[in-house]
Amino acid sequence: MDKEAFVLAGMTLPSWCRRAAHPEWKFILPFRERTRLFRRAYRAQQRDHSEVCGLLTADKQSRLHLVFFVNQSTRPGQFELDKRELRSVMTAAHARKEDVLGRFHSHPISAAIPGRGDMRGSLLNGRELVYDVCGREARLWKILKRKSRKVAVEVPLILETHSGTMRKQSLLEGS
Ligand SMILES: [Zn+2]
Repeated sequence: MDKEAFVLAGMTLPSWCRRAAHPEWKFILPFRERTRLFRRAYRAQQRDHSEVCGLLTADKQSRLHLVFFVNQSTRPGQFELDKRELRSVMTAAHARKEDVLGRFHSHPISAAIPGRGDMRGSLLNGRELVYDVCGREARLWKILKRKSRKVAVEVPLILETHSGTMRKQSLLEGS
């Protein structure tokens, strides 16, 4: 398997990504949110290989909430949030006493790892939730500055099951 294929299979990470280093930053992807993300991302992939995207917020119990946006980018493999919509959604999130963490988007045909374009568009100290439609896997990243360059550090994500029990993401088990 060549290097690119390894990266796509999630077996190694590109140079701008790091494994989870701070296990105390844990977030929960509630069952309802997970189902919405999986379904919508799958539909977009099947329709025209497009991505779904939006804003990521969390309540005080670190439960994630996804606010879906219309993707403003017409270029394949890219996403862009409308700035005016962003402002109003952020105001509404603050009114609900939720923290605005960052963004989420789907990858129709690649691993749940932020790409170069994602890194360029990311905000420092923001989170990026990436969902891989083919692998049915969601991974959460925090964007930090290390030695004057942006890196994405993986943050443990706990998947809530239908019955409300929590399942640790398999890739993070033992880490
Ligand atoms: Zn991406």
